[in-house]
Amino acid sequence: MPDKHYDIVIAGTGPAGLTAALYGQRLGLDTIVFGDIPGGNVYMIEKLENYPGFIGGVAGTEFGVKVFQQAQNEGALFTLTRLKKLGHGDGKFLATDANGQVHSAAAAIIATGRVPIRLPAAKADLKGINFCSVCDGPLYRNQNAVLAVIGSDNSAAQHTMTLARIADKVYLIHRSERLIMDAAHAGLIADQENVEIMGQTEVTGIKGLDFIEALTIRSKAGEEKDLPVDGVFMAVGWRPNSALLDFQVDMTPEGYLTTDANLMTSHPGLFAAGDIRDTDMWQVLTACADGARAAKYVGDYLTGR
Ligand SMILES: Cc1cc2nc3c(=O)[nH]c(=O)nc-3n(C[C@H](O)[C@H](O)[C@H](O)COP(=O)(O)OP(=O)(O)OC[C@H]3O[C@@H](n4cnc5c(N)ncnc54)[C@H](O)[C@@H]3O)c2cc1C
Repeated sequence: MPDKHYDIVIAGTGPAGLTAALYGQRLGLDTIVFGDIPGGNVYMIEKLENYPGFIGGVAGTEFGVKVFQQAQNEGALFTLTRLKKLGHGDGKFLATDANGQVHSAAAAIIATGRVPIRLPAAKADLKGINFCSVCDGPLYRNQNAVLAVIGSDNSAAQHTMTLARIADKVYLIHRSERLIMDAAHAGLIADQENVEIMGQTEVTGIKGLDFIEALTIRSKAGEEKDLPVDGVFMAVGWRPNSALLDFQVDMTPEGYLTTDANLMTSHPGLFAAGDIRDTDMWQVLTACADGARAAKYVGDYLTGR
């Protein structure tokens, strides 16, 4: 049995969940927040340069911790654990934590973001396959490393820039005809002498016994060859974290939650914010904005406005 009833339960401690907690508390809503890493995916951003107000950028980790502290100072209760399950019964949201304890709330905000997916060729037991250049890039420092980034978007750009300062050589490999990153990112990469962009190139295999040794790549013309590398960083796509939902909610075929103009999902009282939402921009700023709006609309929902 739940021991206390909250106004809002928030799943996720990324920019969306933290901002929802900050706004929720300030609106007078009693808020409990589940999620492990304060700041969520921002820990993967070496320097957050496109968030207004930080001239010259701010380290993602610093940003995440500050927003976390700000929300905590407002009185939001952070459990720092993930939710096993978010269900609904008797008109309440029922959040089951990792210990099996159930917490109840009148409304819920799901802000669980998304995680990078792995190419089918990337076997889980092969060392040297990475997803976070800020976390794992430094392992290759002072090793004359040759690294590869697979992907074409802004995340791939960030990995490439981080790794270009660490490795002797970085290949940026992508299948598309052109890079789909911002012009600012593309410009920075073009200026890097040790970065080689390999467009219209597909990674068809990853070779190595214990450690990665080479990527098998195929050109548009169909020629296949091995490209020796010491490590690879994947930015090939995303999987939304919606598995914790224990009831039916409308989502896109990829698993992003669809919402109305007030960020409410097809389930009354369940709101979605940030990267988990079917949106058109997956950024820190838009995630924060979603979090703030979701908290406001929860307030309206609870007071029947
Ligand atoms: C390499 C890289 C570089 C990037 N660079 C930039 C950039 O320069 N500028 C920019 O604006 N954006 C950038 N982004 C994107 C930005 O990080 C995301 O848009 C933003 O973090 C989304 O925030 P969010 O709160 O929606 O989700 P997330 O940050 O993904 O946070 C989701 C949170 O939910 C938690 N969670 C997951 N499952 C559960 C569960 N079952 N229970 C409880 N909690 C759960 C996670 O642990 C995490 O804390 C970058 C992303 C990457 C990967």
